[in-house]
Amino acid sequence: MQITFWGVRGSIPAPGPSTVEIGGNTSCVEVRAGKAILIFDGGTGLRMLGKKLLKETPITAHMFFSHVHWDHIQGFPFFEPAFVKGNEFHLYGGNNVSRTLAETLEGQMDQPNFPVDLGAMGAKVSFRDVPEGEAVEIDDGSGGKVRVTNARGNHPQGVFAFRVEHKGKVVVYATDTEHYDGRLDDKLAALAKGADIFIYDAQYTPEEYSAKKGWGHSTFEEGVKLAKHSGVKRLVLFHHDPTQNDAAVHEKEKRAKALFPNVLAAYEGLVLDA
Ligand SMILES: [Zn+2]
Ligand SMILES: [Zn+2]
Repeated sequence: MQITFWGVRGSIPAPGPSTVEIGGNTSCVEVRAGKAILIFDGGTGLRMLGKKLLKETPITAHMFFSHVHWDHIQGFPFFEPAFVKGNEFHLYGGNNVSRTLAETLEGQMDQPNFPVDLGAMGAKVSFRDVPEGEAVEIDDGSGGKVRVTNARGNHPQGVFAFRVEHKGKVVVYATDTEHYDGRLDDKLAALAKGADIFIYDAQYTPEEYSAKKGWGHSTFEEGVKLAKHSGVKRLVLFHHDPTQNDAAVHEKEKRAKALFPNVLAAYEGLVLDA
């Protein structure tokens, strides 16, 4: 699998001269498995991924939404391939919110929030709300299958983390989740088991976290604990706080490295192979 990071920021975009290295766009990760295109979250990073995908049309892609907080859906109305007839998008949401994924994405583009509604999108768009524990299987276009399973994280209004398996390789995407006091999150520990790449919500330093308990995010230290426990090969720090400039993210990465050598802080444009 090949993983490309299009948006690595949490909560709100954070553009500007102090964040150019890490990037200011919110959550969006592309995973290629064989010929299958999978997209995790539609934060503002999705807009630039859309520009790239336009060159490959007609395309079919599978989009998984961890949850529908703004920073994970805001790029969707600006995802150009969705306006192009002939493209096909399968959207998956966790059925853990008060409305379905379709209702939420429609609501985001409903008046007076947005100039055109979801119906203006020319591509074929289908929605599927996936219950916790249900696997989604996707044809990889070369005789194999990509398997995506999920587990609930710990986040206000709920969140799903995803495990992607293809040809014996495993990528886990676990953003917007808060650790528990004094114990590991059993569900995430199981989901991350043996992952080649474990993308984890490391929004805060432990010092920052002490003022943000209950906000639904975690730290690099807690990511390291899970990574060690679950035998993860590579840990990727993700969903950086908008207040962290490039130096602060690098510092966070340095501190994490002292605890777990194979760690890196995600940045826009980062490409990893699993
Ligand atoms: Zn978020
Ligand atoms: Zn959130």
